[in-house]
Amino acid sequence: MDLEHPEQRGPEAERLEPGLYVVATPIGRLSDLGLRATDVLRRVDVVAAEDTRTSRVLLDHIGARPTLVASHEHNEARTAQSIVERLRAGQRVALISDAGTPGISDPGARVVAAVHDAGLPVIPVPGPAAVTTLLSVAGFTEPRFRFEGFLPARPKARRDRLAQLARSDAVVVLYESPHRIVETADDLAAALEPGRRVVVGRELTKRFEQLHRCAAAELPAWLAADPDHRRGEFVLAFDAAAAEVSEVQLADTLLDALCAELPVRQAARIAARATGLRANDLYRRALALRAGREEEADEADRPPPVSGAPGSA
Ligand code: SAM
Repeated sequence: MDLEHPEQRGPEAERLEPGLYVVATPIGRLSDLGLRATDVLRRVDVVAAEDTRTSRVLLDHIGARPTLVASHEHNEARTAQSIVERLRAGQRVALISDAGTPGISDPGARVVAAVHDAGLPVIPVPGPAAVTTLLSVAGFTEPRFRFEGFLPARPKARRDRLAQLARSDAVVVLYESPHRIVETADDLAAALEPGRRVVVGRELTKRFEQLHRCAAAELPAWLAADPDHRRGEFVLAFDAAAAEVSEVQLADTLLDALCAELPVRQAARIAARATGLRANDLYRRALALRAGREEEADEADRPPPVSGAPGSA
């Protein structure tokens, strides 16, 4: 990897050209603001910030005094145009979010797209993001990852999404708020095989930073064990599904859906075409799944044992 000193580029590297600088800022610890990010924020004419009050603290910390304008999800379309006009007038504009990298579960993409569309320069100034911070310490040997960000808020939509993500052959990274962390942990424990490895990053880079690695089935108990475990900001990752597990799970989901509409033998034939597995194996699997469902339904219909009756505890 070639790293470059600014001097190696000659004096033009010292000039800050007009353009949109997309600057990553710390996810908790002010001193994580990089040297180049600091330099750019001190020298731009304008900083477009998600929340000007939050960003004022950061800018004051480094002695930067740019014009601050608000650019958030509710006014992004409008601010994008005014930023394009400023750039056309030769100004240097930095785009920042409340924390981390703009555009990563944060506004920014509309402004960036408008500047690209106007044929003007977009310059990345990289730095922290909770997703990469967690992955760097998660210890998953699978190199590919899928960044999911926040799951849907509605319980059913969240569970459906997790059922799909459970089959991912890449590591999956989620963002979660303290209000929903318990529900998400319960849903994760239900969606993943009990032994699937999960890593939780809580309050990363901050005073009460915590990193916890456990099996999916153990996550709810870890959260319940201490109220502090449920406080602050969370980023979670779970390991990729083992190849054979994901194939079997996919076949089960498909068989379930097909069997609801078609005779078992036909469902098995279609599932075999879709998955490349043997139709006879899938037929037996569909019968076993159906028998399991019927047993579950019988169990649910059975009245509870009368206390004191033979066989009741
Ligand atoms: N743009 C940010 C980034 O680059 O990571 C993400 C912004 S998103 C609105 C905020 C979410 O990121 C939080 O709810 C949490 O899930 C995650 N997050 C941000 N900072 C974190 C931290 N210090 N520790 C753990 N998770 C964090």
